[in-house]
Amino acid sequence: MPVKHLKGGGEVHKGTKGGITGCGFDTKEHPDHWVNTQEKISCNKRGCNY
Ligand SMILES: [Zn+2]
Repeated sequence: MPVKHLKGGGEVHKGTKGGITGCGFDTKEHPDHWVNTQEKISCNKRGCNY
């Protein structure tokens, strides 16, 4: 399930809340900044989009 970064312009990353995103964000550092989502991945960094 993708995870949305509420404090990052709403960017949607590959990964799940409580883990590391495809591009390397640790969602445990600021758990309140991240929510699981059904939205399409919008992050275009390596690891999230390819
Ligand atoms: Zn990403």
